[in-house]
Parts: sequence; structure tokens; C-alpha cells
Amino acid sequence: MEKKRVRTRIAPSPTGDPHVGTAYIALFNLAFAKKHGGDFLLRIEDTDQTRSTVESEAQIFESLKWLGLDYDEGPDNGGNYGPYRQSERFHIYGDYAKQLVDNGTAYHCFCTQERLDNLRDRQKAMKKAPGYDGHCRALSKEEVEKRLAAGEENVVRLKMPYEGETVIKDVLRGEVRFENNLIDDQVLIKGDGFPTYHLANVVDDHLMEITHVIRAEEWISSTPKHIQLYRAFGWDEPEFVHMPLLRNADRTKISKRKNPTSLIYYRENGYLKESMVNFLGLMGYNVGENEILSLDEFIEGFDITKVSLGGPVFDLVKLGWVNNQHMRKKDLAELVELAKPFFLAKGYITENSTEKELEALTKVVEILREGAITLKEIAELADIYYVDSFELDKVTEEMNKNERKSVERPYHAIEDETGKKSIKLFIEKLNAANEEITADEAKAMLHDTMEEIGEGPGKVLMPLRVVITGRGKGAELYNVISIIGKTRTLKRINEMVAKYNIF
Ligand code: GLU
Repeated sequence: MEKKRVRTRIAPSPTGDPHVGTAYIALFNLAFAKKHGGDFLLRIEDTDQTRSTVESEAQIFESLKWLGLDYDEGPDNGGNYGPYRQSERFHIYGDYAKQLVDNGTAYHCFCTQERLDNLRDRQKAMKKAPGYDGHCRALSKEEVEKRLAAGEENVVRLKMPYEGETVIKDVLRGEVRFENNLIDDQVLIKGDGFPTYHLANVVDDHLMEITHVIRAEEWISSTPKHIQLYRAFGWDEPEFVHMPLLRNADRTKISKRKNPTSLIYYRENGYLKESMVNFLGLMGYNVGENEILSLDEFIEGFDITKVSLGGPVFDLVKLGWVNNQHMRKKDLAELVELAKPFFLAKGYITENSTEKELEALTKVVEILREGAITLKEIAELADIYYVDSFELDKVTEEMNKNERKSVERPYHAIEDETGKKSIKLFIEKLNAANEEITADEAKAMLHDTMEEIGEGPGKVLMPLRVVITGRGKGAELYNVISIIGKTRTLKRINEMVAKYNIF
């Protein structure tokens, strides 16, 4: 038998913010399809017209594009199996439902909401599982036709077998068995004529020739209904892969109350797309020793059977580490471009920044990417290079919180006689220097100051650090001096000298 071309899809509903879970499932579908030389497509499941929004749909497109999780076919890029938006396919589903009614695997149900409510109350009182009781399954053909002709409101339901089991052959889980008598006669077409998720999903997966349904674990209870639908139509069912759910740190299902879940949040907070994709690829999946991978590398080594079912924790600390690794690996010029909006937001650069200011920006980013976990954090840590006035009080207070030991040190350093002498001498050296000071020159000036004073870093560099950066610790002083230049270094020192009556 000829092997079918592998086709996978994601089928998100466009409600709310674009979810990390959508990207996670998209990544595994994409990797599987690409690894097998197949296609990956996006279908928008907007059957729930009250909850679906165009904004949310646009954000799905945008987020997937941002992450580089490119789909071969979709609502915005077309393809041979369209339309790819269920709201544009509504005319299709009715005929398929009719096919099932005609072949006896589905039926019209005229039960009123009132009857269904009563039924549910009775079942509850008797401590029985809620579910439709099959009341309309037994209606005669004539009666159904009469009631339809009279325009009576109805839904179409699937006839679940009363006996036996439906067995899902899940690629990761093996056989998962469901007792048929516990499964409801699923509504396929609602009273308003619109299809339910189940019917639309199965019909579309069939028409779009999906070979592998790779979706989140939460859909597994729908799968026996889907399998029964495939059988009712006489269609081959696809392979099923139910991926483990992403979890909060406390192992509950990921929720925005405990963990940011919107892809927009991660983008706006300065996580690189590479990092998001890489991190999502580590969810429940063992990539081996080297965890830092590009999307191509991930696809190259991809093997769906390496997914492990233990609930993967969406661990922000780990994500921070992954992002730091990618920021360090990234081409510096590209990283600077990505960091710019965050520096603009801080007011550290403008749209009209000079060549020299942009050179300084490059140096700042190069230095700070080593220790920062996001682009946003790079901009936050950059205040030392951009803000020329500081209050020692605030800094000491902050240090008080973080690091008891160094509490008094900034003050101590500028009150110390050797400290004062060092500051004076350094001012003289700065006055004699050119406006532009290279990092090496700054290093030499600091070194000479120590030599001439005859004391080490604690006595000489600490007070200089305090008057130049306002802090007792942090960035390499020579880097700061070379980045801000002579005038601003002097300005900072003089302001501190005046503010704290140092001499
Ligand atoms: N519309 C469903 C969702 O929102 C699709 C589930 C599936 O992949 O079958 O995720």
C-alpha cells in the first residue's frame, strides 16, 4: 500500500490571548511533519461564534510567525484544502450530518431544554452520571419526518454503541479504552444548525487529509467519540498522539493566574523567539545532553516517541536560563536590534540616536547579555550607563535588602581619607584625558591611581565606583568609564562630590 504523505495540523479556537500551549502543540506538529517530509497546517476552529474574535485570530497568526512556527497552509496563506477557517466551512457540515442520519448512525433529537434539565436533575438525585438517555433514538422515521416538516427545533446526535469499548491506539500511551455505555450520544449539529467541535473537527481532519492528530491530553476524552464518527462515515481514522499538558510549578494545569500563559507577554518582556521555541521543545521531551538548540536542530533530531508523559513544568527559571544562553549565542548586531525597543522605552536611546550612541548601546548590550535573562532586563540593568545622577540613600537601602554586609560600604568608602584622595587624583587624571577613553586606557588610569596612592582596590576603586556608578558593586568600572566618556564621568563625580560634601 502506498504510504500517505504525513499531514499534521493545529486547530486552535481564537478566544483570548495566544496561548503558550498553542505554540507547544504547534512545535511538535511542525517537527513531526517536517521530520517526515510532510505538511503542517493551521485551521482556525471558530465554531463558537460568541467567543471567537478576529483579534484573537490575528494574534495566533502573528505569534506563530514571530516564533517561526511556519504553517504550510492556513487561513492567511491559503492551500489546496481550504478554507481553513471553520466559519467559512459551515455549509459543509450539514450534508455530512445528513449522511450519518441517512445511514442510521446519527439521529434527530427533539428533546426540549426543559426535558434535558429534568433528566439531568433526576440523574443527579440518583447519583448517576449525567448524559442523554437516548429518548429520540427510537423515534420512527415517519414521526421524525413529520416533526421536521413541522419545523420543530432539533439537534443531530451520534448513536454511540450501547455496548463494548472504543479503543484509542495512542502513539505514546498505547491502548486507551473507553466503555461505550459511559459516553453520551454526542450532539453533532446544534439547534441553530451550527456544527459542534466534534463533527467539524473530524470532518475537517478527514477532508484535509490529516494523518496524525497531535493534540493536548485534555482532548483525549473526546477521541472515542471521534473514532466512532470516523467509523460512522466509513473513513480511516488518523493516528492519535495526546501530548502531556503543560503545568504550573505546583504541577496543576498551566493557568494564567499562576504563570503567564500569553505568548504576547513573553515577547513584550524580551524573551527571544529562539528561546521560547527551544524551551517548549524541552517540555516533556528529552533532547539529550545539549539542551540549547535551534528549531532546525530540534526538527533534525525529532522523534515523537521520545515524548515522556510525566507532566512537564513550565519553569520560568529554566526559561530564563535558556533565554540567557540564546542571547549570548546570538549575533550581537541582531541582538542589539531586538534590544532597541526596550532601550527606547526607557528613554536611553531615541529614534535619532547618533552613530556613537548606538556604538555605546552595542557595548552595553554586549556586556549585559552575559548576566541578564531577558532583553527587558538588559535595559533595566543598563541604568548604570545611562543615568548620571543617583541617590546613595536609595542604593544603600536596596543593598540593605539584598546584601546586609555591604550596607554601609558606599558611605564608608567616600568618607574614608584615602577614598577622598583617590577621587581627587582620579579627577586630575580625567581632566588630562581625551574625551574618548578606551576600556584599556580607563583600566590603566585606574591602575595608575592605585599605584600612586599606594593602596589596593578596596581603598581606591571602591570610592571611585561609588562616585561614578552610585553603587558599591556591579559592572566593571573601566567599561562604564569608556562607555560614558570623560565629560559624563566627571559630571557624575562632581555631582556626587557636591551632593555628599565629599571634600
Ligand atoms: N479547537 C480545539 C482547540 O481549541 C482543537 C483540539 C484538537 O486539536 O482537536 O484546541
